[in-house]
Amino acid sequence: MNAIGVDVGGTKIAAGVVTPQGKILKEVRYPSSGPPEVLLGNIVRAVREVGRGVDGVAAVCLAVPGLLVSSEDRVAFSPNLRTIENIPLREALEPEIGLPLTVENDANAAAWGEFRFGAGSEVDHLLCVTLGTGVGGGVISHGVLLRGAQGAGGELGHVTVHATGPRCACGNRGCLEAMCSGTAIARYARVVAAKRPDSALGRLAVRRRIIGEDVTELARRGDRAALSVLEEAGTWLGIGLAGFVNVFNPEVVAVGGAVSVAGELILAPARREIALRARPPSRDLVRVKEATLGPESGVLGAAALARDPESGEYVFGPG
Ligand SMILES: [Zn+2]
Repeated sequence: MNAIGVDVGGTKIAAGVVTPQGKILKEVRYPSSGPPEVLLGNIVRAVREVGRGVDGVAAVCLAVPGLLVSSEDRVAFSPNLRTIENIPLREALEPEIGLPLTVENDANAAAWGEFRFGAGSEVDHLLCVTLGTGVGGGVISHGVLLRGAQGAGGELGHVTVHATGPRCACGNRGCLEAMCSGTAIARYARVVAAKRPDSALGRLAVRRRIIGEDVTELARRGDRAALSVLEEAGTWLGIGLAGFVNVFNPEVVAVGGAVSVAGELILAPARREIALRARPPSRDLVRVKEATLGPESGVLGAAALARDPESGEYVFGPG
């Protein structure tokens, strides 16, 4: 049986019909902007439209940004999509959709996607970090997704790595997210550009406001100022990962999200920090690599987390 995975992000809703082999048969996109009733309406429209004319869809899983209270299918806190907060999502959506619905955290779904179909498909112990506007995380141990007591577990991006660091979107200071997200990279870049006005980064900053993608682009062309920005972000990423490697002893750490297109420019300094800070034997086992599913990881992972209403098992099997 197929399943529908719905990935709800800060700007868009992506819904896809996915086969048990991880093939997306059909996909649609809707905006996630507007008040809560518009957001819910667009989720329903997306699921109905993508499922139309497709046979054999058993269930739907909705991957949502923010901290979940799983027992109530409710997002308690979502800094990038406030309109989704505190709605009992299953109760509100399931009757409209007409298919069994489960709700999961988006970064956990992305991690599960990489585990089932991507960079972690050969292992049982996977840690996945998604570097975008924020930093998402997901942990799979013994082939089981770590959710914690309420479904809010696996928030690797909100572990403090710098006690007096910059303010994070969550309200804390010095979270991993505040130190190595795309937002953090743009912030470092503006500081470095001001100090090095003769660099390509410095010259661009005079013309317009720098974003994370600019840094990767200039670093690829060899601009030393831009390279130093990615070095800084990669170092903080590695400081965070070293701790996670010690705690979870993963076989693979998969790094995805828009920032991960910087590839080795950010992964090499991260590996260096892991080598320095993590302990053997975990340090020697772990492989840090790029995630392979790209922006589809959320839809694929959500579909693979959809549950059969009779058995309660995943439609695609345990993993
Ligand atoms: Zn935070």
